[in-house]
Amino acid sequence: MKQYRSGVVDIGGVPLGGDYPVRLQSMTNTSTGHTAASVAQCIRIAEAGADYIRLSARDRAEAENLSNIKRELRRAGFNTPLIADIHFNPSVAITAARIVEKVRINPGNYADKRATFTGIDIGEAEYQGELERIHQRLLPLIEECRRCGTAIRVGVNHGSLSDRIMGRYGNTPMGMVVSAMEFIKIFAAENFDRLVISMKSSNIVVMNSATRMLASQMSAAGYNPPLHLGVTEAGEGEDGRIRSAMGIGSLLTDGIGDTIRVSLSEPPEAELPVAGLIVERSLLHLRGDGAPPGGAFVSGGRGNGVLHLKYECDDHDELAVIASVDAAPWLLAGSAGDLTISNRGSLSKELLTSVESGILQAARIRMSRNDYISCPTCGRTTFDLPEAVARVKKATGHLTGLKIAVMGCVVNGPGEMADADYGYVGTASGTVHIYRRQEIVMRDVPAADAHIRLAELIESDMKMQGRV
Ligand code: SF4
Repeated sequence: MKQYRSGVVDIGGVPLGGDYPVRLQSMTNTSTGHTAASVAQCIRIAEAGADYIRLSARDRAEAENLSNIKRELRRAGFNTPLIADIHFNPSVAITAARIVEKVRINPGNYADKRATFTGIDIGEAEYQGELERIHQRLLPLIEECRRCGTAIRVGVNHGSLSDRIMGRYGNTPMGMVVSAMEFIKIFAAENFDRLVISMKSSNIVVMNSATRMLASQMSAAGYNPPLHLGVTEAGEGEDGRIRSAMGIGSLLTDGIGDTIRVSLSEPPEAELPVAGLIVERSLLHLRGDGAPPGGAFVSGGRGNGVLHLKYECDDHDELAVIASVDAAPWLLAGSAGDLTISNRGSLSKELLTSVESGILQAARIRMSRNDYISCPTCGRTTFDLPEAVARVKKATGHLTGLKIAVMGCVVNGPGEMADADYGYVGTASGTVHIYRRQEIVMRDVPAADAHIRLAELIESDMKMQGRV
């Protein structure tokens, strides 16, 4: 049975929520100023099965160019609704709202300045004053969206909460919920109901608990906007599939979530088959017939028991996704504390062990390797991010237990790698800033050396801490 029943919002003729199918979406990583490249990528995304396509709009010129992209896409016969992704700039959101079917805004930076991570709680009067200021700044967007029939997604990210929220609640699931609820109440006060909400994090435990807490608070307060699910900076390959499938699948299996985006550091069209498989597998569980072939059972005591999963599968990516969806409800709820996977297909023992370790690592049960997170890239990325990820993994793969982020831009990258131990963040000029947590420790390192300098920094820190 569904744990969260959403209302329906029509997004450009493709209804979202209620009993409609879980909608799939992806996001371009071309520059939205480049019409031909963006249209070509939108077509590849649509052909891969997306119900909606999101594009970033960094400034007014890009927002205006959405009309050329939309026109060319429609001319090519693709009616997929478009979504504009906006950070920091209300006037860009308003421009985009006149063109696309939905705009995504981030409550952490729509009307607040960039977070400074100072952690200072402002007093109650100032806090309420900030909320009133945000309400006033949202009014023009609300009116334009009402006039144009455009929907709005309030997309809360663990890594980009405002100072106002972080000062009082910290960078926590509760802070994410409060941030979303503040915006939901403003939209409700203005009788605007074309609203969608998301609560994303690269940490699936955080994303899971924030989304469940929000769903429960919204239901209790009588709000029912559709929920968009996603794990940010999930990475690529097996790790990216495991994190996405566990984070998203564990919610869908409980009937929470109406649309999903799998964020991989791979071509956007590669995200759709993964998203489709996550939905298909999760819905088997929701309907009550999701046990994998041969069944799933736990041996040993509750909490520290071992979950055994059995399959007959010849495809590594597919096994990573379905085992993650199957294991997530047990491991994330604490009903099992270990995992074995057996398979009658042709996959090697090494691959099965790798999937087992990846799932236990994503559930934060056993850290046997580093966590590499990387953004899916977008129009802001000016370098080959998958290649940078490969170099960073090679240079640091002998270390364990660290969370290392590789991010495509200095605008959102540092915030969105919220709880990473180290960060490799590309700049617009092709150099790299290297971070220890939220602090830049090396600026403008040439890309050819950056992975080596990062590894040296980590090793030197570990020596200082007596960890090597
Ligand atoms: S971190 Fe920057 S480059 Fe990467 S997806 Fe986010 S905005 Fe785009």
